Amino acid sequence: MNSVPLLDLKAQYATIRAEVRAAVDRVLESQYFILGPEVEALEAEVAAYCHCQYGIGVSSGSDALLVALMAIDLQPGEEVITTPYTFFATAGAIARLGAKPVFVDIDPLTYNLDPARLEAAVTPRTRAIIPVHLYGQMADMDPVMAVAERHSLYVIEDAAQAIGAEYKGQRAGSIGHLGCFSFFPSKNLGGVGDGGMVTSNDAALADKVRLLRGHGARPKYHHSVVGGNFRLDALQAAVLRVKLPYLDGWTTARQHNADTYRRLFIESGLVADEQIVLPVDAGNGRHIYNQFVIRVEQRDALAAYLNERGIGTEVYYPVPMHRLECFAEMELAVGAFPESEAAALETLALPIYPELSEAMLAQVVQAITAFYGGSASWRASFC
Ligand SMILES: *Cc1c(COP(=O)(O)O)cnc(C)c1O
Repeated sequence: MNSVPLLDLKAQYATIRAEVRAAVDRVLESQYFILGPEVEALEAEVAAYCHCQYGIGVSSGSDALLVALMAIDLQPGEEVITTPYTFFATAGAIARLGAKPVFVDIDPLTYNLDPARLEAAVTPRTRAIIPVHLYGQMADMDPVMAVAERHSLYVIEDAAQAIGAEYKGQRAGSIGHLGCFSFFPSKNLGGVGDGGMVTSNDAALADKVRLLRGHGARPKYHHSVVGGNFRLDALQAAVLRVKLPYLDGWTTARQHNADTYRRLFIESGLVADEQIVLPVDAGNGRHIYNQFVIRVEQRDALAAYLNERGIGTEVYYPVPMHRLECFAEMELAVGAFPESEAAALETLALPIYPELSEAMLAQVVQAITAFYGGSASWRASFC
């Protein structure tokens, strides 16, 4: 039996090797490594792709969030509302500036921040909301923007998992005041190292991000504000520029894989028997399936069983933010955010990368069916 890894970047690289090498070579021959024409070209291309006027290349998705919060001049003691069910960088960026992450629980179907809980979390100290578009599906942005407008709050979209995702026709990163993207290699558009992008349709905010990215200097050595080194390098930009034209094709392949999983899981009987819950597509836009996350009982035992059979899985995320040691002083007990806590115990990401074959998808579904003791009869229908 072949193994099915969670992600196989080599499979993708094999399809674009010559182009990537030529781009890397171009940068090496130029000996222009930090910012410069490749980064500027990528900024324009990604901004256009995200339906945004401005794009500012930065050193990572984490730094995109940090510099975005610096650009709104977030002060120590102020509050930013976000979800406890996300990658650490979302809450970490808030805390690093001495501000306080204020969590609101998620919608148990989409795993995105539940906007119905937002209003109650707003205080006089609240400055911003960071919705996270988890797993490639956008948060319910209309009510998020409505609450933000009512209370004059900034909205910073954590779109690290959602490049090209849409909500009612609007692209991720184009609805809030600022959008934050990651080019970490495992994201849908991944570089050959760390990288990120901040998007905006607000000229003043975009300019502030650009200033902060280079230690607040303009011109060189004349520092009007304290920023940081959040620069993107030319090697990343050149490789990302090779990959960007392929992104829509890869997204279509991911969506096709998700459809195939849905069909096979329904045929398996596991869905009807409620042994697994499939990802819910909220139906208001384009889901780009950065992850295909199922919800199951005996999650850890299933993951171990699949691992023994060469099938890669991952838990995103095993500990909700409010239960992390570094946030212990917030004194948020077990039970504070029950939907996030339940999701952390029950969700499991399956391989969904574009290059998966139908046979590999079937192998994953068969193994999960075998774990739950399903009969073998249904397999004949697709093997
Ligand atoms: C990946 C990710 C980040 C951070 O991106 P890096 O480039 O790894 O720093 C932030 N938020 C979310 C939701 C992510 O998935």
